[in-house]
Amino acid sequence: MTSLMHRQRGPRSRLAFLAQSEAELRASSEPSAMLFVRIRDFDEFRSRHGYARADALSDAVCDALASLLRPGDSGCRIDEGAFAVFLGRLLSHNHALLAANRLQRMLQTELAVDGQALPVESAIGIANGQPGDASVETLLGQADSASQLALARRSAVERRVAPRPHEEIPKTALRDAILGNRMQIWLQPIWHLRRRQIVGVESLARWLDSEYGLVSPGDFVPLAERSGLIGDFTRWCLNATLRHAVELRKLRPEMHVNINFSPRLFAEADIVEQVVDALKLWEVPPEAVMLEVTENATMEDAERSAPMLARFEQAGIGVALDDFGIGHSSFAYLRQFPVGALKIDQSFVRDIRDFERARQLVRAMIDLTHRLGVTSIAEGVEDAGTLQLLEEMGCDCVQGYHIAHPQPAEVFIESLRT
Ligand code: C2E
Ligand code: CA
Ligand code: CA
Repeated sequence: MTSLMHRQRGPRSRLAFLAQSEAELRASSEPSAMLFVRIRDFDEFRSRHGYARADALSDAVCDALASLLRPGDSGCRIDEGAFAVFLGRLLSHNHALLAANRLQRMLQTELAVDGQALPVESAIGIANGQPGDASVETLLGQADSASQLALARRSAVERRVAPRPHEEIPKTALRDAILGNRMQIWLQPIWHLRRRQIVGVESLARWLDSEYGLVSPGDFVPLAERSGLIGDFTRWCLNATLRHAVELRKLRPEMHVNINFSPRLFAEADIVEQVVDALKLWEVPPEAVMLEVTENATMEDAERSAPMLARFEQAGIGVALDDFGIGHSSFAYLRQFPVGALKIDQSFVRDIRDFERARQLVRAMIDLTHRLGVTSIAEGVEDAGTLQLLEEMGCDCVQGYHIAHPQPAEVFIESLRT
């Protein structure tokens, strides 16, 4: 098994990298790790020194990463100023930490561009893998989150302690985290293609636990739903997001905030009043808020959902149908549900560069939104090619790593200030 550094940015080299490391993960009986390496202030470097020099810097970082690789390892340039390295055969997970520390020092002290020393600060996230473990894509996502955390904390390296499967996280730990204010709100911008500006943000929860590490909402939201904590959790998110919305709208009064909302809350008869009261408390106008409900959960209990959505609409609060396209959508439901936006699921968006069929489906979904007079938001836009295709298709808004990763709310708001 040879080692390989995929230097080109873009989906093709990322796919090759994922395929190679996936094969290695499956074949190996030793621990493995994914490192996600971000160059701090890369955008600033590029605006100051130009694209050519930024590319030269990326090449130099690739060289540094390549020098770490041993047989069974592979690396990839993921994005502007972002790289991933898969370490396939480790003696122990501590070796991943050693590698990350070595890399961080190397970038700080040994990097040179055009023969000139160029010290670079990095933020590295580590996700540990075990034989027979989750897919490398999961590891990549976990390492990415950990590197975001390193960026936000201005630390060099953060480790993502693999949580036990969420069945094993005790309900009490989640309850303590919610009630003890140990959840965080991260924000990801929503970009309007025609207006060429950020028109809003989506609020995404994060749970940072000393024992379980950074637990993603994909892991703890289902637990919250199963264990009756989803009401408390959503109320916490609502209030915490509105608190940030107040700061955000002082800087950009036109921006709206999207809040993920579990349709399980529709079982609470006074849920609309609860949301309206929270808006009054924070003095945020209803039109500045959009609730995101997943297509599936909403359709599952359409009889209960439809009147609730209508009441939210009467209160002036918009609703977006999330993960549109993967659930059991039906045109009859769309007639019944007053929604202001459809969020096209990332699984379609991801494929439009490579597959004609996905392109046609996404085009049809965008046309549908226009006919219904609602906003189309494409999720999971990861590269310029995808962005351009969506623009040509007349999509209204986009969201995704290519525009910006989710960031801790304070960090995002601070970046608007500067
Ligand atoms: P979602 O509402 O579909 O959120 C989008 C997810 O895609 C987020 O994951 C976001 O970080 C990720 N993402 C954004 N851009 C890209 C991209 O370009 N590529 C890829 N591969 N992923 C991208 P996250 O934050 O892990 O959230 C996962 C899900 O958890 C959310 O899916 C949402 O359903 C749920 N969730 C998150 N926050 C909350 C919350 O406060 N309340 C509730 N009820 N659910 C939440
Ligand atoms: Ca969402
Ligand atoms: Ca979604």
